[in-house]
Amino acid sequence: MNKFEVLNKYFGYSEFRRGQEELIDAILNGRDVMGIMPTGAGKSICFQVPALMLEGITLVISPLISLMKDQVNALSQLGIRSAYINASLSEKQLNTVYDKAQAGRYKIIYVAPERLLTPVFKEFCRKVRISMLCIDEAHCVSHWGHDFRTAYLDISEFISLLPERPVVTAFTATATQRVRDDIENLIGLENPLKVVTGFDRENLYFEVVRPKVKLVALRRYLDLYSGRSGIVYCSSRKNVDELYETLRKEKYSVTRYHAGLTKQERKLNQDMFIGDEREIIIATNAFGMGIDKSNVSFVIHYNMPGDIESYYQEAGRAGRDGNEADCVLLYSASDIRMQKYFIDNPEENPCLSDEEIETLRQLRLQKLEKMIYYSTKASCLRNYILAYFGERTKGKCNRCSVCNGNEMSIDVTVPAQKIFSCIKRVRECEGKRVIIDILKGNETEYILSKNYNLLKTFGAMSDSAESEIEKHIDHFLKFAYISEKRTGSLYLEEKCGDILWNGKRVRKFAEKTERSSSNTSQDVDIRLLLRLKTLRKLLAHKSGVPDYSVLTDYAVVKMAIDKPKTMEQLRKIEGISEHKLNKFGTVFLKEIVRHCGENIEKD
Ligand code: ADP
Repeated sequence: MNKFEVLNKYFGYSEFRRGQEELIDAILNGRDVMGIMPTGAGKSICFQVPALMLEGITLVISPLISLMKDQVNALSQLGIRSAYINASLSEKQLNTVYDKAQAGRYKIIYVAPERLLTPVFKEFCRKVRISMLCIDEAHCVSHWGHDFRTAYLDISEFISLLPERPVVTAFTATATQRVRDDIENLIGLENPLKVVTGFDRENLYFEVVRPKVKLVALRRYLDLYSGRSGIVYCSSRKNVDELYETLRKEKYSVTRYHAGLTKQERKLNQDMFIGDEREIIIATNAFGMGIDKSNVSFVIHYNMPGDIESYYQEAGRAGRDGNEADCVLLYSASDIRMQKYFIDNPEENPCLSDEEIETLRQLRLQKLEKMIYYSTKASCLRNYILAYFGERTKGKCNRCSVCNGNEMSIDVTVPAQKIFSCIKRVRECEGKRVIIDILKGNETEYILSKNYNLLKTFGAMSDSAESEIEKHIDHFLKFAYISEKRTGSLYLEEKCGDILWNGKRVRKFAEKTERSSSNTSQDVDIRLLLRLKTLRKLLAHKSGVPDYSVLTDYAVVKMAIDKPKTMEQLRKIEGISEHKLNKFGTVFLKEIVRHCGENIEKD
């Protein structure tokens, strides 16, 4: 199989993204590589595709034990046999993995850096053929990065102990020149092909807000994002705990994550978030590295992080599936005090001299200054980040809160109440056009024939342009306050009740309604989408994996738009690999056909 066939068969994609092909070709030609690509750019495929094509085993050094299982599960969903070797396995399980690996059962094995120099592991590596060594999150090798891990320094010794030097590949999302040099030198890459793709993540919208009361602002965002998956980052465990308690009591769908929780709780909470049982995870920066949850649609920083690298890495966990996603920073001056405290009280690092410690402190202070600038004064937010990573930028991006004129959001509680109330008064039996006519006060034949001109809401929005009313309705459809029946009639979702009767307010982000979205709510058959999502949940539950491991959100939404009826049509949907097609194709097709049949009968 060639690389295109592998990409298509296992991953269901028809073409490589920027940088992927170059890196894969180099690896297949036996050359070391260093891939510096932003989160979500598709680094995994750069080593997974050649891993499947090379003889022998690819070892992937990955920093977080807890996440290896998820990665192995995800690969197994794609029909790729892989394993992990870490402290969570019993001796018996470890031996099984070693035996199976020696029998050639695995193409990819994940391992924590701490294990590399243990006698058993070294012995194992002498007995098998390691054709590639891949270092994921390679910035962990450098003191100058933000996730330094001492065990990463063992990698070059480990390589020298192998009977045959494998091709060595290193990947990271964030790397300044200093970190890049460290990666190359400390790992001992030999004449690597370096590919640095653009850092821009076009689907991310950046926003900085300086609210009077952060909690109030946060609630508003969470209400706006209701039903979607997101991360709220805090700088301290205490903040995480306090926010978590507050929001939990207010019945938000939240969980939490920080290093002070027990291992079991961390695992449980993380699984609940990844499995979509909780919409929001409130976490310190201990959460996220290596997390492969593709449908995170917002990342809110409740506190300003210490540098742009950390910010961009954490914010970049949104929108990995390519869908539009938001990155919001809630800033206040007290964030600076907290970050300065962290800089003045660093963790012990025995590898550094006093002089180096002081240099590092100065460096961190400089980085903090840049972060403060971003939070308070930057012109275009995206351009500022890209320039920070040394990328040339042109003009305004028009996809950040600064470019959109700091007018970040508007309160739309009153129009929401009018629209919802109107829908209710026509007993949820009318579509958008009639609702607009009533609110605008248009005395059409139909309106008069139905006596809608006698309703209390008739003319309630006569001051607004029809297009404005329509935009509001589209917005509420998009954020699932209201939905559309197959007949086109609008009906209210449960959460409207809070706005109509419980004094809850709702905000709309003016600029965001202008943002283009390829899948407008009208294109999607919402009821079919719900059916397909339920089916996906069931299948995921059976296999013990998160929903998006069965099929991505993109693929499910695309199905609810295109309504494929044959395997051929289904195959055309991006992200559905041959393996998934064989495994799930028929059940999804049946569900679509059943849905369409039922709806035709009703019509
Ligand atoms: P990274 O490790 O760089 O953060 P991932 O490897 O997790 O990114 O990839 C992010 C998403 O992009 C995944 O859902 C992945 O399947 C998808 N992806 C990667 N390569 C391609 C491609 N060539 N075409 C379409 N989607 C891709």
